[in-house]
Amino acid sequence: FAKKSGRNTYAFYNDALTVEANNKLRLAVELRQCVQNEELELFYQPQVDLVTGNIIGVEALLRWHHPERGVLSPFHFIDVAEERSIIHDITQWVVETGCRQLKQWQDAGLMVSLAVNISPRNLADITFTQVVAEALEKTGADPRFLELEITENTLIENQASALKVLEQLREKGVGIAIDDFGTGYSSMAYLKRYPISKLKIDRHFIKDIQSEAPDEEEVAIVSAMIAMADSLGMGVVAEGIETTHQQAILRELGCTFGQGFLYSRPVPADEIAELFGIDESL
Ligand code: C2E
Ligand code: MG
Ligand code: MG
Ligand code: MG
Repeated sequence: FAKKSGRNTYAFYNDALTVEANNKLRLAVELRQCVQNEELELFYQPQVDLVTGNIIGVEALLRWHHPERGVLSPFHFIDVAEERSIIHDITQWVVETGCRQLKQWQDAGLMVSLAVNISPRNLADITFTQVVAEALEKTGADPRFLELEITENTLIENQASALKVLEQLREKGVGIAIDDFGTGYSSMAYLKRYPISKLKIDRHFIKDIQSEAPDEEEVAIVSAMIAMADSLGMGVVAEGIETTHQQAILRELGCTFGQGFLYSRPVPADEIAELFGIDESL
């Protein structure tokens, strides 16, 4: 009996693998078309000053309007895009679309920065500086209000090219933020070597301080990250703030900026314009 069930399990497992491989392949084929089929959209989520409550910037978050499966978060397709090099086209679209939006906000007199997420594969590409430079030039957006979000592992995986690209972009005034800070493998030495302007504390650490009586150690970890950013002269953002309780602790710890569902979910461009109180048709 055991043997029989074992064989069935094996067959099932094998089929599941084939199904998964096929799904991936199909997704890759569809992904290749997504830019030219105009299926991508940027949603925006505000970053606020934790003291004044003012919106100081927004993060652009990618959405794919899949023809059959509805709106997909990057969790469902960025890995496939990276494996097949489709990420280059996608990132180019994201940077250009984000810069065009930034320019509109700048023309409306808003002093907000715009952050876009960059994949590891993009920083392996030494010509990536050019992609960003062209988007800035084409749209006329002010580079000092553009920020690129990269993860710690992106730096480690592409040491030489990443350093060069980031230094070139920093010289143009573009900001560099470390996303999901605390989840990767970087060391203090890494953070010093790269021209980083901001740390974004990963939301798992913020989640840990949400109970009424948070663990002292959990608070201490967040506090240490804030102190580190301060002493390295970097800005610091807490990701994933969902409660006023978390907000209060972060304020007390001296965290400057925050982002999360407490302020707003990621929303389409016209809704963020409403949050700013400007005419969306601008
Ligand atoms: P991320 O850059 O760390 O973005 C934050 C993610 O957390 C977003 O998920 C956002 O919707 C979610 N989030 C924000 N506030 C809260 C909160 O209070 N609670 C909880 N539970 N979640 C919150 P999203 O939009 O699904 O994006 C997932 C990830 O996909 C991003 O993580 C980023 O790594 C990647 N991504 C997004 N847009 C792009 C893009 O244009 N290019 C690339 N390469 N990656 C992208
Ligand atoms: Mg991000
Ligand atoms: Mg993040
Ligand atoms: Mg994250």
